[in-house]
Amino acid sequence: TREIHLASRPTGWPVPENFRTVTTELPDPTPGEVLVRNTVLSVDPYMRGRMNDAKSYVPPFALDAPLEGGAVGEVLASGDDRLSPGDTVLHQAGWREHALLPADQVRKVDVSQVPASAYLGVLAMPGLTAYVGLTRIAPVQDGDTVFVSGAAGAVGSVAGQVARELGAAKVIGSAGSPEKVRWLTEELGFDAAFDYHDGPVAAQLKEHGAVDVYFDNVGGEHLEAAIQRMADFGRIAACGAIASYNDTEPTPGPRNMFMVVQKRITLRGFIVTDHGDAAREFYGRAGGWLAEGRLKHRETFTEGLDSTVDAFLGLHQGQNIGKMLVRL
Ligand code: NDP
Repeated sequence: TREIHLASRPTGWPVPENFRTVTTELPDPTPGEVLVRNTVLSVDPYMRGRMNDAKSYVPPFALDAPLEGGAVGEVLASGDDRLSPGDTVLHQAGWREHALLPADQVRKVDVSQVPASAYLGVLAMPGLTAYVGLTRIAPVQDGDTVFVSGAAGAVGSVAGQVARELGAAKVIGSAGSPEKVRWLTEELGFDAAFDYHDGPVAAQLKEHGAVDVYFDNVGGEHLEAAIQRMADFGRIAACGAIASYNDTEPTPGPRNMFMVVQKRITLRGFIVTDHGDAAREFYGRAGGWLAEGRLKHRETFTEGLDSTVDAFLGLHQGQNIGKMLVRL
């Protein structure tokens, strides 16, 4: 079986030489273990941070060891009574074709209503991130105008739709291509959307009036523009700053931080893993919205383990609409 190792730590943009595909033998599971054939791997922006040797909210990836990340797969052999061959499971041993894991590190998922890939996107960590951001961090209130950056991505596309369900009167999105902008307005029900390549974000955002809640996936120019366009007592959920993840120098912060004071803005960062207790509530509500067609989602797949690095790099180049995944 094959797995992808981190061969060296990237400086700035990762390059293929930072990764190495390694062929290994997998033993049969011993009691308490389970052997899984991975069918879908997740690539996520937070993995870029783990490639650095820096202290953060998750430890760095080890060199010369398989990378990790969300994955779903099929149980091939089980040394645990609770799991049987053929079961579909979710776990964190991604970036590889097969995984041998302690049974308590896999979760059996129900694929009778949704495809297994949903457990890596809309019904998983990215969806929960959107929900936590708009319920706990920058709560949406009835009648709010909500702005979401990175709006055509895994988190952003759910955030815009959840904002509407939570009572927003107007949802605005920004994304990186005309096709994404069309998807937001024509299919996901965003009231307005723009391509941030078409002109300064602040100027494009101005067209749509004051913003009560900003869900920030991007940072940089987007954050500065949002601060400029926030209403008094506006709330910002600081979720990510993907515009800066491959920078080699610290980027200048928003130049207008005094507006946070003037407008009495609340700007609050969060990490979804601190909010596992919101998961049950989210999955319950999101399951209902999905079933009723009120929550739409999309996935972009690359094919085969050898495409995993490209999928990961593609995330940073905006090649995905919705959740970026690798199908094995
Ligand atoms: P996405 O599916 O949104 O993929 C990343 C997207 O970022 C790309 O599709 C691209 O779309 C956009 N992008 C890349 N570079 C830039 C740039 N320079 N400026 C603007 N947009 C850019 O990823 P996720 O939904 O998984 O993650 C979205 C954000 O949420 C990330 O910042 C991530 O780190 C964060 N996150 C935070 C969590 C938390 O707990 N706080 C948990 C999960 C995610 P485009 O074509 O529009 O440029």
